[in-house]
Amino acid sequence: MISRSIRARGGLRWAHVPVLAYKEEGSHFKNITRQILFDAAQRFASQLRYFEIGPGGYSTLERHRHVHGVLVLYGQGRALVGDQVISLKPMDALYIPPLTWHQFQPDRGKRLGFLCMANCDRDRPERPHPKALRKIAKSKRCAGFIKV
Ligand code: MN
Repeated sequence: MISRSIRARGGLRWAHVPVLAYKEEGSHFKNITRQILFDAAQRFASQLRYFEIGPGGYSTLERHRHVHGVLVLYGQGRALVGDQVISLKPMDALYIPPLTWHQFQPDRGKRLGFLCMANCDRDRPERPHPKALRKIAKSKRCAGFIKV
C-alpha cells in the first residue's frame, strides 16, 4: 500500500516501484528513467509517473492531444512549453496544454525529477517534422534549448 521514497544516486526512487526506461523505443531522448506510481491497475483514469533526467539528459521534444500536469520534486532544470523556456525548481507546478510542443532538461550538471500526470487513455506523441522544428526554433531562446 505504501511505497516510501528513497534518495538514490543523487535523485529519488520509490521502494518496490520498478525503474523503467523512459520509452520503449527511440533515440530522441537521453538519460531519463520512469517510475509509475499510480495507474489503471489501481482503478485510476490517470497515470502518475515520476521521471528523472540525469545530467546531460533530455526528454523527447513532442506534442499530443492529451495534457500533462507536472509537479517538480527534485533538482533544477528547464522546460520548453510552446514558445517559452521555463525555469523549474522543486514544488513548481506546470501545465502542458493540448498540442503544445514540450521538452524537459536539467540544468548543466544537475538532475531534474518530476511527477507527471497523464490520462491512461491517450494519443501517441508526435515529434516535429523539419517545418515544425524551424517554427519552434524561431525564437533564439528555444533554438538554443531544444535537442532532437
Ligand atoms: Mn508529453
